[in-house]
Amino acid sequence: MTSLMSIPGHIDPVPVPRPEVVSDDGRVALVGLSRDAIRDALIEAGMEAKQAKLRAKQLWHQIYNRGATDFEVMSDIAKPQRAWLAERFKIGRPNVVVQQVSTDGTRKWLLKTDDGHDFEMVFIPDADRGTLCVSSQVGCTLNCRFCHTGTMRLVRNLTAGEIVGQVMLARDSLAEWPSQPEGRLLSNIVMMGMGEPLYNFNNVRDALRIVMDGDGLALSKRRITLSTSGVVPMMEKAGEEIGVNLAVSLHAVTKEVRDEIVPLNRKYGIEELLQACADYPGANNARRITFEYVMLKDKNDSDEDARELVRLIRKYKLPAKVNLIPFNPWPGAPYECSSDERVQRFSDIIFEAGISAPVRRPRGRDIMAACGQLKSAAEKKSRAELDRLAEEKLAALA
Ligand code: SAH
Ligand code: SF4
Repeated sequence: MTSLMSIPGHIDPVPVPRPEVVSDDGRVALVGLSRDAIRDALIEAGMEAKQAKLRAKQLWHQIYNRGATDFEVMSDIAKPQRAWLAERFKIGRPNVVVQQVSTDGTRKWLLKTDDGHDFEMVFIPDADRGTLCVSSQVGCTLNCRFCHTGTMRLVRNLTAGEIVGQVMLARDSLAEWPSQPEGRLLSNIVMMGMGEPLYNFNNVRDALRIVMDGDGLALSKRRITLSTSGVVPMMEKAGEEIGVNLAVSLHAVTKEVRDEIVPLNRKYGIEELLQACADYPGANNARRITFEYVMLKDKNDSDEDARELVRLIRKYKLPAKVNLIPFNPWPGAPYECSSDERVQRFSDIIFEAGISAPVRRPRGRDIMAACGQLKSAAEKKSRAELDRLAEEKLAALA
């Protein structure tokens, strides 16, 4: 059964078919299901209720804590029952199309859903942490003008299984099973890959709850950040039901400029957005809201812009820090990155007002680790590949 779920489109809602969680061979995918949902699936497959509750608990631990991908390794479950489970259920991962490692240690994956849609994931190691950048949608409906993902048509929301599956795949790749309390390479998660997470709220929430569960992937909510371009009506709900750190893609301080570069601003304006930030549950001086600000030459990078940013943060009494992101150019992009001196000056003005404003170092440039760039490189390659095949065919016919 394919149900329809609504995703707000460019500005207004567009229904997008929700993919099946039952695979071609009829097996039900377990990754992405809560304990209760696993139990219900077992009961539906014919297991007795009391037993299903116990097995669900064991399966949860095996899948999310031990990283099991095969029922055979589950020694706490009787052998015949493992076979019974394997016939009806599967524990998958997103398919890997390409995995690349940059000279600076950044790893990037181009992944594919079972129904053939490409999406991306990036791991950025640092001295004191390792951050996984996770996607929430295939493409994005919001069309921010500086963002490459915004130039792709939204294909669909990722399921909770596909979202949490990214984290599990990264754990596989870093050999970090079982979930350990200390010394992890993968220590932080940012929902900053492809897509707008607050337009796929339920799946993002369900996935992050598994990530935060103490007997699941066991990552603290303090180490998880959700980035939104400013979907104001969902922000409070996100704070209440997910409770992770909030990052807001502000990028401009005037209506004119933000309307141009973040078209969602025409629906939810700057003042409304900043009020929602001030009201965000759990934000305080110890847990600041991050404002992301992409530096675009002669567009949003003047001294006046920096001073206006400070004024706005003060006006709304926001516990804020600002992340300055040098614009990562892509072929055909309508903007250029501000000069290093400009970025530094902009940072200094904010910093002198007592607000932290670090410049984010670009990472993984050699593997095009910016938003949406690996996917388009792969598409180009496959188009070139298709052209070559077409030429071969023509040559064979001649
Ligand atoms: N849709 C969400 C999360 C994904 S984008 C959002 O917009 O917040 C993650 C961050 O990367 C956002 O701050 C986005 O504005 C920024 N970004 C997108 N394209 C970029 C580019 N070409 N150069 C620099 N930053 C970019
Ligand atoms: Fe979508 Fe975020 Fe890119 Fe805007 S910046 S198009 S919201 S992914």
